[in-house]
Amino acid sequence: MSVTVRFAPSPTGHIHIGNARTALFNWLFARQNDGRFILRFDDTDAERSKAEFAHQIAADLRWLGIEPDRTAYQSRRMDAYQGAAEKLKRAGLLYPCYETPDELERRRRIRLSRKLPPVYGREALKLTEDEKAAYEAEGRTPHWRFLLPNFDDDPFAPERTDVHWADIVRGPQGVDLASMSDPVLIRGDGSYLYTLPSVVDDMQMEVTHVIRGDDHVTNTGAQIALFEALGGEAPAFGHHNLLTAASGEGLSKRSGALSIKSLAGAGFEPMTVASLAVLTGSSTAISAMADMDALTEAFDIGAASRSAAKFDSADLDGLNETLVHGLAFDAVRDRLADAGIDVDDRRAETFWAMIRANVKKVPEAADWWPIIVAGPTDEAALDGDDLDYARNAFDVLPEGEVDGTTWKAWTDAAKAQSGRKGRALFMPLRIALTGRAWGPELSDLLPLLGREEILRRRP
Ligand code: GLU
Repeated sequence: MSVTVRFAPSPTGHIHIGNARTALFNWLFARQNDGRFILRFDDTDAERSKAEFAHQIAADLRWLGIEPDRTAYQSRRMDAYQGAAEKLKRAGLLYPCYETPDELERRRRIRLSRKLPPVYGREALKLTEDEKAAYEAEGRTPHWRFLLPNFDDDPFAPERTDVHWADIVRGPQGVDLASMSDPVLIRGDGSYLYTLPSVVDDMQMEVTHVIRGDDHVTNTGAQIALFEALGGEAPAFGHHNLLTAASGEGLSKRSGALSIKSLAGAGFEPMTVASLAVLTGSSTAISAMADMDALTEAFDIGAASRSAAKFDSADLDGLNETLVHGLAFDAVRDRLADAGIDVDDRRAETFWAMIRANVKKVPEAADWWPIIVAGPTDEAALDGDDLDYARNAFDVLPEGEVDGTTWKAWTDAAKAQSGRKGRALFMPLRIALTGRAWGPELSDLLPLLGREEILRRRP
């Protein structure tokens, strides 16, 4: 069977760099295996899920360079989940429970005081039909739990039952089904928690590999049991380590910190963000990959480390700068246009080749464009000796066409004329030409300006 993966965010906020890690692990794994990538919105929580978040997540993935082969919404697949729930109920594997959160908490404390594991004791399995009817008459609606296969004949005597799988990230894994409570699959209001819909979708969408964060390892034990209860075969699983903020704190969709949207808005390159999202917390050296092909090649799903990895947003700057310095004009043309640069101007391409070494982010080039085409935007601060020197120096600009050799010839002439050298020699000229004390190589700038424009800038 060909490889099929899915990225399954719940659209309850903006995805952050840690979610992008999961999406990219799936995307790169699919690319390495000639597989398919499904974007599946886990939006069964009608109250918290918002269409605008789903749109933004799709846009964020596009920005990162991920193009799903299919997009699905769990909210539109309720019939499938209901069918699966009915099947489990008929088999006696999904049972109604009426406890309130307070009652559950009280029982949990009693179990702890008796040195029993604080898991659900399956008391609801003992309810008679009359007792259930009485609860319903009281206005209680049941929530439904999945009876985990962790016992021989007596559900009240669970035994150690290890579920094993060969995790494609972490290696051999096992979870003891007796160490957990029967999971609630359907809430009291009839809505589904993610556990059952996820398994039903993975079966019906023929997902071959579930790649997700290691906060789901325990769920995997219960989900493998669910696959079997529904007559399906569990896919392969891979659980990668999570990213935390530099402070060690977990990333949250709700806080908006390090959201893909905000990183895009801050002018970072998609490949900077993608490279860091994937390579942080792995044994592969971190560098900014030029494109998705390079990242696909560098990606090794088994290289992710076991423990949580700190994502330091300061790393974004350095990596982005390196990447930007190597970007060709065609790769940034649209963004330069968005930033207000006339990309059809005959100078635009040469301008980019020159200025990219002076910017950390592509949009910063827009600062320089008016300086090149129209003149200094800051007031040139030349006075006294420097002003006199610069004026005289403009008189010895070499004759003829201005090219890459002009700057050297010009400063040689200005040096002979003034006796200045080093900074005192070139800085007044830089300031006269650009209004700034730093910037692009002047040997590159002069041909871009041309003779007439240079002389027009004589202070
Ligand atoms: N909606 C779940 C999450 O975002 C999906 C987990 C999974 O991939 O199965 O954590």
